[in-house]
Amino acid sequence: MASRIVRAACPHDCPDTCALLVTVEDGRAVKVAGDPDHPGTQGVLCTKVSRYAERTYHPDRLTTPMRRVGRKGEGKFVAISWDEALEEIATRLKGIAARDPQAILPYSYAGTMGLVQGDSMAARFFHKLGASLLDRTICASAGATGLRYTYGASVGMDMEHVPDAKLVIIWGGNPIASNLHFWTRAQEAKRRGATLVAIDPYHSLTAEKCHRHIAPMPGTDGALALSLIHVLIRDDLLDHNYIDRHTVGFDALAERASQFPPAVAAEICGIPAEDIEWLAGLYGQLAVRERQPVAIRLNYGMQRAHGGGQAVRAVACLPSLVGAWRHAAGGLQLSTSGFFPVDNAALQRPDLLPGWPKQPRTVNMSTIGDALLDEGGAAGPKIEALVVYNSNPVAVAPDSRKVAAGFAREDLFTVVLEHFRTDTADYADILLPATTQLEHIDIHKAYGHTYFLANNAAVAPLGEALPNTEIFRRLARRMDFAEPCFADSDEDIAAQAIVRGDARAQGISWASLKEQGWQKLSLPAAPFAEGGFPSPSGKCEFYSETMAREGLDPVPAYVPPYEAPATAPELAARYPLAMISPPARNFLNSSFVNVDSLRATEGEPHLDIHPEDAAARGIVHGAMVRAFNDRGSMLARARVTDRARQGLVVGLSIWWKKLATDGKNANELTSQRLTDLGRAPVFYDCLVQVEACTEGAALTS
Ligand code: SF4
Repeated sequence: MASRIVRAACPHDCPDTCALLVTVEDGRAVKVAGDPDHPGTQGVLCTKVSRYAERTYHPDRLTTPMRRVGRKGEGKFVAISWDEALEEIATRLKGIAARDPQAILPYSYAGTMGLVQGDSMAARFFHKLGASLLDRTICASAGATGLRYTYGASVGMDMEHVPDAKLVIIWGGNPIASNLHFWTRAQEAKRRGATLVAIDPYHSLTAEKCHRHIAPMPGTDGALALSLIHVLIRDDLLDHNYIDRHTVGFDALAERASQFPPAVAAEICGIPAEDIEWLAGLYGQLAVRERQPVAIRLNYGMQRAHGGGQAVRAVACLPSLVGAWRHAAGGLQLSTSGFFPVDNAALQRPDLLPGWPKQPRTVNMSTIGDALLDEGGAAGPKIEALVVYNSNPVAVAPDSRKVAAGFAREDLFTVVLEHFRTDTADYADILLPATTQLEHIDIHKAYGHTYFLANNAAVAPLGEALPNTEIFRRLARRMDFAEPCFADSDEDIAAQAIVRGDARAQGISWASLKEQGWQKLSLPAAPFAEGGFPSPSGKCEFYSETMAREGLDPVPAYVPPYEAPATAPELAARYPLAMISPPARNFLNSSFVNVDSLRATEGEPHLDIHPEDAAARGIVHGAMVRAFNDRGSMLARARVTDRARQGLVVGLSIWWKKLATDGKNANELTSQRLTDLGRAPVFYDCLVQVEACTEGAALTS
């Protein structure tokens, strides 16, 4: 039997971006394992991706192009040839573009994080067409914007040093489920004597294993961070030398933080003031008095509320106040993606836009429900065609009832590139089979470490599946796009991805990556020990001149949730429980929900509710419950548990709607309102009521 090992990379939306070794026997991938030599992966994959072969060879894989024959959303299709599919798409897009190309909208996100199969040929295609631009905000843009205004870019400490930290604060994430390789390092730090603290409204698996858990109500993290700053300043737990040399705006920050003494913040956050005093005291004592490394692993959960951007800014000030950046094992990481010198202009060719540098209108992916239901006007035409790739918006976009109504429009021409018949694929007019990571090449950066990785193709495409790049390459030919870039091979594109001559990527190229699998950027171990932030001032900006110029509050602020008793008392009277929907351990956004073994482990949609909130509603453990608000409802099996703090319910996500109890998921309840910075969705700024329901009544409701 011919057996070989192929070097690959995990394509999923996860900070760990693991290096994979794929065992191929007689042309079939039989094993996907973590590369033991890659310092990030250390030979370990999460349960999800260790099942990647099961996903790739799943009997439901799409292997031919298909045309819809049933109602939109019904999921009835017949197989057609690639010729028929491409001809129909090109004809429809040409007709719409002749009237106004802005009536065409691409919709994509991080179904693959690869720079080639993500947005290279696809972006070139839509730029040349003059289609509407998509504001890709659905996950991280509030936090990314907060970081950009503070540090200048999405940059932070290197998690490889975390085992040397003496305090690790895990804020707004559950790494056991979604940042596994950071978690192994945090555990190593714990073994070496570090204190681990979780800040999360939910008592997650991670919080359970930390020394202390602080559980603020969702959307109140900004107040907590400002109160920590208050205590650090009040008690002079500050690195004055670092502040003087490497920050701007200390006085403005001190003035803002003075409004958040622990008693005030405790009231806002719904936590004991003592938690704030204790954490600030420990953080400052270790960092300033004992000169020990203290690390913050910030994650995206805490920025999914109205004030998410400013909350990230407030947290991001902490390591500069205590000089934590002086150590390799100190500082903060939300993302490392800003370190990577990626040549987006070469990959995506915005210069192909008709009238460049003038831009067509931009549609925010987080409000796709409203956008699809909009009749058009001064801001741009009605959307007539939607091309979805690397995303499943009918399941993952907020305010799902409106999203589904938009996708159900009979006058909307929808093309979906997919591996499976997802909730979104069911609404496609033309459904195209895309290759998985094992069947195409790609090049990857990361947002949780600082290695570039190569993904070599391990096996031939299944059936008639094609890489995204090849689909758009063929479509470009049908549209008579003559620019040479539309003839670039995937190898050509991969070779264009890294900015030439950038010192950080010295010695790294597509050619070397293909051979070696991964290579680390050249960066100092403690990147901001001597300041040098990529901000306009080169310093950590407590006060941002850029924000002031843009009419924004230039100092980190607490922006309360849209939906909370203090800001919306009438709404809170009707819907008194805050709901969050963080990732289920066996799903990755909506990927893997259809992998039987993983879905079996999750069981069915659950809603975790505190015993007192359950008792007040006559809800017993295991009962079917209905969560609802003005936007919609969903059914779930109640788990009565103090993992959910009082006043909070938690629905681990993201279920495919058609595989959920009642064909609905948590996004029936979430809203299309946007964050203070970054135009991002507020998935965790969501009030609901919950009621017990009998099983029969529930399933017919
Ligand atoms: S999903 Fe994350 S932890 Fe799992 S294999 Fe991919 S990168 Fe690694």
